[in-house]
Amino acid sequence: MRRIAVLTSGGDAPGMNPCVRAVVRKSLYHGLEIVGVRRGFHGLVTGDFMEMKSRTVGDILQRGGTILKSARSDEFKTEEGRAKALLQIRTCEIDAVVGIGGDGTFRGLHLLSQMGLPTVAIPATIDNDIGSTEYAIGFDTACNNVLDAINKIRDTATSHERTYVIEVMGRNSGHIALAAGLAGGAESILIPEIEYDIQQVCTRIIDGARQGKSHSIVIVAEGASGAPPVSSGGTLTEGAAYRVGQQIAHITGFETRIIVLGHIQRGGAPSVRDRILATMFGAKAIDVLLAGEGSAVLGMFQNEVRAISFEEALSMKRPINMDYYELSNILSNL
Ligand code: ATP
Repeated sequence: MRRIAVLTSGGDAPGMNPCVRAVVRKSLYHGLEIVGVRRGFHGLVTGDFMEMKSRTVGDILQRGGTILKSARSDEFKTEEGRAKALLQIRTCEIDAVVGIGGDGTFRGLHLLSQMGLPTVAIPATIDNDIGSTEYAIGFDTACNNVLDAINKIRDTATSHERTYVIEVMGRNSGHIALAAGLAGGAESILIPEIEYDIQQVCTRIIDGARQGKSHSIVIVAEGASGAPPVSSGGTLTEGAAYRVGQQIAHITGFETRIIVLGHIQRGGAPSVRDRILATMFGAKAIDVLLAGEGSAVLGMFQNEVRAISFEEALSMKRPINMDYYELSNILSNL
């Protein structure tokens, strides 16, 4: 093991930069050469590489996004595309690849490892929907961003005695909605995994008002069950929050406002938790490669970073935390 490449892929997640920093500096610490790949798998296919030095990753610890940039690459999904990527890797004398991204990225990295290249996958996605880790890089910061928005919206919601419907990211998973909803005291949390009953949502809002609540907050994940999928060409005015908000206004007769947080959730300085997670993952990736253990997927289990095989990791599912859901329903509706 002499020369390693690092890439970020899929949706950007706050904490990718601290992870790149850890991968680069841990490599240099062990006397390895380290190459950055620009724009994820696209850069691997086109050979868009840059030599990484300690100073290249200076002053990035606190920045959201990724200095290596991220992209989606359809070409890498083809056999020819991956053959081109392998040729670039061999030409540049790269001995292993560390990839930071979501489950799609993991599938790409798995295929690369099957071509005989030692590959380590690090989970980074704000959705936290990767089965093989309790926490992915970016999730904590995204939840804090949502919480910050809820806190601010609450001030206006209380002053004007309104119901606010806040849409958060999560086309297929409700992890952000659940964590931010529980922490933010939302009256209802609507997620893709659980079919919602709009009548029950409205009853809670009406009961809350009768008990003297000055406002209500409903958190809706993009793909909340019953909402049209965003990927089906739905526009903002047809998204989950709009549909739920219109129904609530109609049934309760209360003034209801709708807020779609969108990409605000992804940006900003990574939280302490994400920086530490990213740093631990980045350092462990180099340890795994130096130990000659071959390819691996990293995950955080009970506060410990562990390396498991791609086969095991890709077969794992991450269920939502039902305790969060039930506790939130109890505590916010008394
Ligand atoms: P996020 O969770 O933020 O969406 P992700 O890593 O799941 O992140 P994807 O767009 O699904 O994001 O995947 C990133 C890239 O990984 C794709 O653009 C593609 O190049 C590669 N990839 C995804 N799935 C596969 C696959 N089945 N085979 C080969 N490459 C893949």
